[in-house]
Amino acid sequence: MKNYIYGPVPSRRLGRSLGVDLVPYKVCSYDCIYCQLGRTREKTIELRPYIPAKKILDQLYLKLKTDICADYITLAGSGEPTLNSEIGAIIRGIKKKSSIPVAVLTNGSLLSKKAVRESITEADVIMPSLDAFDQKGFEAINRPHPDIKFENMIEGLIALGKEFSGEIWLEVFVLEGINASEKDAEQFRDLIKMVNPQKVHINTAVRPSAETFARQVSRKDLSFFCKCLGGNAEVITPFIDSQNHEQTQRDIEKDIFALISRRPCTLDDISSSLNVHRNEILKYITPFLKNHSIGITEKGNNIYYQSNLLDVH
Ligand code: SF4
Repeated sequence: MKNYIYGPVPSRRLGRSLGVDLVPYKVCSYDCIYCQLGRTREKTIELRPYIPAKKILDQLYLKLKTDICADYITLAGSGEPTLNSEIGAIIRGIKKKSSIPVAVLTNGSLLSKKAVRESITEADVIMPSLDAFDQKGFEAINRPHPDIKFENMIEGLIALGKEFSGEIWLEVFVLEGINASEKDAEQFRDLIKMVNPQKVHINTAVRPSAETFARQVSRKDLSFFCKCLGGNAEVITPFIDSQNHEQTQRDIEKDIFALISRRPCTLDDISSSLNVHRNEILKYITPFLKNHSIGITEKGNNIYYQSNLLDVH
């Protein structure tokens, strides 16, 4: 049976986050050039119960019976969670059985629909994205479904800012040479004021992106960009691992190398073999891609990872 619950995993923004996948692997309204999950497989704005609430809640209730320690239950995963038309029922179902705060990680594209905003109103934190300040940048960075216009998207965010009684933590994803200049920061600043979020998180492509031209901004430039935004903007810094987590990390790294030294594997292969979410696998393999212990080859639409180490044991 497919697993819709993962973690708790360490999250830069949420501490220990128990993740819940609400849509199948890359069903999304965007196809962001920086997406760490690769290119979108199904670009859609159709709201439907991609994974029914009951299936998700049954698994989550079992997980909650175990001895887990989570700071947030995070609705996110492998695509855009607000596309799941049962997201409201899922949040209510979680609230019935748990006092752990619920966070919704969304690209914000569907918030112009009142019904979508209402469906997530019982969450504690909503974390939408804003990566562009005009239609041209929006199309270049987020590559949205053709029926989503920048103007409507931003109106949805502003409406959320007015209506939502919980916290809004906005994420701005900046990319070298694309949306990271001082002038860009000024444009973002005016829009952000209209949304009025409690926090603004500045992020960049520290992991492999869907497109190689989506490049990381240096820490120094990121700090400067953040300063230009002013107010409550902060660069999100890596989660500090506990000793326990370091042990788990070593074990997972060992398992990944054991797998990819036998044959090249896609992210999906590694994820399903180790029962660890794709996002987590990426965190583990990124440093090894950088020091070339792991290499990648592209075949068709797939990226394969293989070990470059002679002896992995
Ligand atoms: S980054 Fe998020 S919104 Fe963008 S394509 Fe990936 S899953 Fe969709």
